[in-house]
Amino acid sequence: MLLTITTTHEPADELGYLLAKHPDRVHRAELGFGTATVCFPEVGPARTTAALIVDVDPVGLVRRAAGVSGATPDGFSLGQHVNDRPYSASSLLSVAISRCLGSALGGRSRERPELAETPIPLELGVPAVRDADDLAAALFEPLGWTVERTPVGPVHAALSLRGTHRLAEALSQVYVLLPVLDDTKHYPVGADEAEKLLRSGGDWLAGHPERELITRRYLRYRRRLTSPLLETLGIAEDQEVPATPLRELRRDAVLAQLRRAGAHRVLDLGCGDGALLAELVKDIGFTEIVGVDASSGSLTRAERRLRLDELAPSARERLTLLHGALTYADQRLAGYDAAVLMEVIEHVDEPRLPALTASVFGTAAPTTVLVTTPNREYNVRYPDLPAGAFRHSDHRFEWDRARFAAWCSATAQEYGYRVEQLGIGEHDAALGSPTQLAVFSKGVAA
Ligand code: SAH
Repeated sequence: MLLTITTTHEPADELGYLLAKHPDRVHRAELGFGTATVCFPEVGPARTTAALIVDVDPVGLVRRAAGVSGATPDGFSLGQHVNDRPYSASSLLSVAISRCLGSALGGRSRERPELAETPIPLELGVPAVRDADDLAAALFEPLGWTVERTPVGPVHAALSLRGTHRLAEALSQVYVLLPVLDDTKHYPVGADEAEKLLRSGGDWLAGHPERELITRRYLRYRRRLTSPLLETLGIAEDQEVPATPLRELRRDAVLAQLRRAGAHRVLDLGCGDGALLAELVKDIGFTEIVGVDASSGSLTRAERRLRLDELAPSARERLTLLHGALTYADQRLAGYDAAVLMEVIEHVDEPRLPALTASVFGTAAPTTVLVTTPNREYNVRYPDLPAGAFRHSDHRFEWDRARFAAWCSATAQEYGYRVEQLGIGEHDAALGSPTQLAVFSKGVAA
């Protein structure tokens, strides 16, 4: 299987720096299920192409799988899935991308760090990928790619993707979306690695119209990670493969919305132990970060988690922790780009909520306010939660979608915001998602 990466960004031969591969050499790596080769079939200042070639050893794949389990593993016909493995781009190509082009995938370039941060014209070629559901355009076009899809047989297609992207972004999209397209039942990419990417891909994934399909298919692979096939591939796997915890999905959705809003100066209201703050400080795009909580115990834990005393002064300067109650107007909080109320409003007695709303939307009045709160309707999906009970003993209420929508539109109207309601976590057709997210914005008209 093959992936070609072409750029016309001059001088185009700097693609070698971006991929950390000398264009004059041929680079080989052993992958356990075959070998990967990176070479440059075309090198020049106007146009350079790199090729990642993965030679899968299908015989070895089958033999080793049979040797381990003595039967087809895990209830699926191995033959079927191995048949097109050698040439059809799949998760095996993703493994190769991360092993051979890991620094580029991570956005790192020792020689050309600025170029790694710069969107450049790119053309990615995949001569064969299984795309039985004809989803290539739906997956790649919303991300700004021009997709040319040429069928090669009933279920396979050749893809050419053209667009202007940071190389790391382009690679991470291919890394996640080729296996999603392929949709076979095994996904031998380390869970941590894929998750990290999905998280860093948070920006593009959160706004992707096919986000649900992408996540659903991706999660299905994760459940398959314990397939005996993986052992035979020599790929480390997690023994336990829990779904991504909701709190992580929440944090990622909030980060993605903050980035989407272009927020730099950010309030984390009711920051608790600082889980979100820890992510915010990692991104220098957030230039001023303020965590506020009424609980000094939480603030102390946040301080410890963030290792404030060990942080570099430059990072330390960006972060402030404030002790304060959100139900009182606080001028210190005025004038920020964005405020986050992540799982906070349900901790406030309902009669006190208008006071919190006034202090956040009226006094602090940031351009963007993100509010997350449980969706009560979803609670029936938690087998351990008695009927009518709340998810947390300190919750004063848990709202269904209609109740939250009513609060959102009343608040938006009263304080002059527009509001958009979203879900976080698996979406159930009848019940909605486990977490509700509202994005309030003011100022610029839609
Ligand atoms: N946002 C964090 C913590 C959520 S728990 C997270 O998602 O991980 C709710 C937090 O809100 C607690 O830390 C609690 O102390 C804080 N809180 C509740 N009511 C508050 C109020 N009126 N003023 C300030 N903080 C409050």
